[in-house]
Amino acid sequence: MAGLDPTDWRGIREIGHRMLDEVFDRMEHMGEGPVWRPMPSAARQGLKEGLPEKGHTLDALYARYQELVVPYGAGNTHPGFMGWVHGAGTPVGMLAEMLAGGLNANCGGRDHAPIEVEREVIRWALQMVGMPQDGSGCLVTGSSMANFISVITASRAQDLAIRKNGIGGRGLVGYAATTAHGCLPRAFDLAGLGSEALRRVPVLADHRMDVGALSDMIAADRKAGFVPFMVAGTAGTVDCGAIDDLVAIEAVAHAAGIWFHVDAAFGALACLSPRFKEQLSGIEKADSLAFDFHKWAQVPYDAGCVLVRDSHKHAAAFAQSLDYLVREERGLAAGAPWFCDFGPDLSRGFRALKVWMTLGHYGSERMGDMVETCCDVAADLARRVERTEGLALLAPVTLNIVCFGLDGLEDVEVSELVQDLHESGIAAPSTTRINGRLAVRAAIINHRTTTVHTDRMLDAVIALRRDRLRAQTAR
Ligand SMILES: *Cc1c(COP(=O)(O)O)cnc(C)c1O
Repeated sequence: MAGLDPTDWRGIREIGHRMLDEVFDRMEHMGEGPVWRPMPSAARQGLKEGLPEKGHTLDALYARYQELVVPYGAGNTHPGFMGWVHGAGTPVGMLAEMLAGGLNANCGGRDHAPIEVEREVIRWALQMVGMPQDGSGCLVTGSSMANFISVITASRAQDLAIRKNGIGGRGLVGYAATTAHGCLPRAFDLAGLGSEALRRVPVLADHRMDVGALSDMIAADRKAGFVPFMVAGTAGTVDCGAIDDLVAIEAVAHAAGIWFHVDAAFGALACLSPRFKEQLSGIEKADSLAFDFHKWAQVPYDAGCVLVRDSHKHAAAFAQSLDYLVREERGLAAGAPWFCDFGPDLSRGFRALKVWMTLGHYGSERMGDMVETCCDVAADLARRVERTEGLALLAPVTLNIVCFGLDGLEDVEVSELVQDLHESGIAAPSTTRINGRLAVRAAIINHRTTTVHTDRMLDAVIALRRDRLRAQTAR
């Protein structure tokens, strides 16, 4: 039998409709059942069968998917999920993923409509953060890749000969606060600069970069013969959601002739909120910006985005001239620049469709409202933490992240308590360290999370803490 299309189109159509119905059933009842449950070893075992020689029926495979995969997800679509920084998705994004799968576009380049959709989405992103419309950008896996592309672009803008001769011996150094995400030192590592070439600037008591210290560090590095080339501010730190003073950082960076980058992985979405926009001032001056549509914008994974103010510098860092990828004036090989000129990927999926449909359907106003509602839920949780004896708010709540300590418990007990909470299925916060102390960390990224869910989480934390204190006195 040649080709892979079904002979029985009616059969696949039926099962396809059933799948779609069951996905909607699940989405409609997303808050029911546990947030997360551990995957039993029998289920893990059930996914090991070796490469099948003769294929299974789609019915049989779908049944295995329902039995072995669906019940054991991370739970980030459930309103009780408050850990790390996870988006929750929407039915609209899900449908767009399905449509994109049907189209199977390769968005590396060439002249076709899906490329125009991605160009439109990049224009929207530039508009959202206030960067000029002639900037460039592309959709990538996530902010890790977007930050990496920014580091590559900034270093090549500093010295284009790196592309041919490598990074060696140039003494390039960059700066980010101690609170910056781990993907930034990793980007320096992957770029061949070395993670130590990312100088870590101390933060003030409000968890924002000490910009005075930044100036001193740049001057000291210059004096020592290093070549400062990049400063990265963060809009929404991963630990407690602080927003660096982007206006002040931009002023220092540009006065020193240094590339100004912003990691706004989730914080960028706050640009759509009239209430929080002001705090992100300076973001519009970024030379490059990394953020995610798959976090606060609720687009299904994965959908990161990198934006670059100067499209020529962006393309200069990545574009190649290859006989088998030649650009023409007309025909399918027209339409340069191609997205493969803006990052390391050649073949690229149609991520833009789910972004276009999500933002296109909900609109910027409703997205801004959703962001504010998440922050309201976080503020309510913070107030309850402050009112509750034995709990201590460990960092100011700038946006949507609440970090609190549990008095009377050692760090290891706090971490065990959070693991207990995960296994209870009631809620899934994560942990981080704030000023040396282990914190329970609730990030309200999920558009489905309300105070009902944060109350349930906090009630469970209070009860689990009480049990542990009782066990201590009994000992
Ligand atoms: C999540 C996050 C990242 C990494 O983004 P990914 O999409 O997970 O690669 C980088 N910086 C910050 C501030 C983040 O919150």
